Amino acid sequence: MAGDERRDEDEEVELASFDFVHEAELARGFLEDAGIPAGVVADPAGQIQFGRGFSSRPRLLVRREDLEEARSLLRELGSLEGGDARAEDSSSEVLKASPFRPDLLEGRVALVTGGGTGIGRGISLWLAAHGADLILASRNRDHLEPAAEEIRALGRTALVRPVDVRDPERVHEVVREAADELGGLHIVVNNAAGNFLARAEELSVGGWRAVVEIVLDGTFHVCRAAFEPLRDSGGGAVVNITTTYVETGAAFMSHSGAAKAGVLNLTRSLAAEWGPHGIRVNAVAPGLVEGTEGARRLVESVGRLSEFEASVPLGRLARPADVAGAVLFLASPAGAHISGAHLVVDGGESVGGKFSLPEAD
Ligand code: NAP
Repeated sequence: MAGDERRDEDEEVELASFDFVHEAELARGFLEDAGIPAGVVADPAGQIQFGRGFSSRPRLLVRREDLEEARSLLRELGSLEGGDARAEDSSSEVLKASPFRPDLLEGRVALVTGGGTGIGRGISLWLAAHGADLILASRNRDHLEPAAEEIRALGRTALVRPVDVRDPERVHEVVREAADELGGLHIVVNNAAGNFLARAEELSVGGWRAVVEIVLDGTFHVCRAAFEPLRDSGGGAVVNITTTYVETGAAFMSHSGAAKAGVLNLTRSLAAEWGPHGIRVNAVAPGLVEGTEGARRLVESVGRLSEFEASVPLGRLARPADVAGAVLFLASPAGAHISGAHLVVDGGESVGGKFSLPEAD
C-alpha cells in the first residue's frame, strides 16, 4: 500500500489552465524558482483553439504532493482563474501582455474616474504603461492611492483627486486644476458607476437617483468640465464605459440600464457636437468582467457565475485588460477617425452566446 501511496504522490495533476502559453510559462517559472517542478502541456502550435470544450488550453501540471503549496504560491502570483489581480493586469506585466507600442500615448494626459479599482484600475495601468500621465478621480482616496503607486512605479505621473462625480462644481475644479498641473488633457475615461440588483417595483427613489446621478449626470459633468482642456490641448478622446445591456435592457437593473443607455446617447450626441473641435467621443461596453465588484455584486452573489461564463462563445469572462485594450485603441491614434462608436468587449456573449447545439459542446 505504501508503494501505491508513493505513486499517487508522484502523479502529475492539473494546477491551472490558461488562455496563453506565455501565461502558463510565467507561472511555471515562478513555481520552479520556488523549488516546485512543474510542466506546461499545450497543443503543438502553442495556441489555444477557443471553443466550448477548452480541450487545448495550456495546462500547468505539478506533482500531487506539491499541489497545495503550488496553489498558494500561484495565488500570490495572481494567476489562478478568477483571481482579481491577474498577471497581465499587474503593472510589471501589462507591457508583456500588450500588443501596442509602449510609447503609444507618450506625452498624453488621461483622466480616469473610478480609476483606482476594478476595470478603472486596469484601464489606468494600461494607459500609464503606454506612456500617459494619469489623473485618478473617485470619492475615496484609499481606493486611488494604491493604483497611483503602481503607476508611479512605471515612471509616470499619477495625481490622486478625491471627487464625487455628482458634484458639478467639484468636478469642474478638479478637472481644470489637474489639467493645468499636468499641462493639458487628452484622454477622459468615464468609468465611475454604482449598481446593485433591485426589483423595479421595490427600488427606492433614492436608489434610482443615486445610480442615475453617478452614471449619467456624473458622466455629463466630467465631459462638460473636460471640454475646454481637451479642445485647448489640440483635441482629444473621451471613452465612456457602458455595458452590454444598454441595447437590450436587463431585469433587476432598470436603474443602471436606463442610466447607461443615456450615457450611450450622450456619447453619440457629443461625438456629433464636439467632432469639429477635434474631440472624439466613444463608448466601450464590457460584458461581465471577472474579479470585479460588478461581477461579484451582480452575478456571483446570486450563484450564476459559471452559468454566465458558459454562455460566452469565447469561453471565458472578460478581464480588465480586455476592456483596457479597447479603451487604449479608441483613445490612441489607432482610433483617429472613430467617433460615436460603441465597442462591445464581451467574448460574443451579447450576440447569441446563450444557445448551442449539443455537438458544439
Ligand atoms: P468598481 O470597482 O466598483 O468601480 C466603480 C468605481 O466608481 C469605483 O472606483 C468607485 O470609487 C467609483 N465611484 C463610484 N461612485 C462614485 C462617485 N459618486 N463619484 C466618483 N467615483 C465614484 O466596479 P467595476 O465592476 O470595476 O465597474 C467599472 C465600470 O465598468 C462601471 O462603469 C461599470 O458599470 C462598468 N461595467 C462593469 C462590468 C463588470 O462586470 N464589472 C460589466 C459592464 C460594465 P470610489 O468608491 O472611490 O468613489
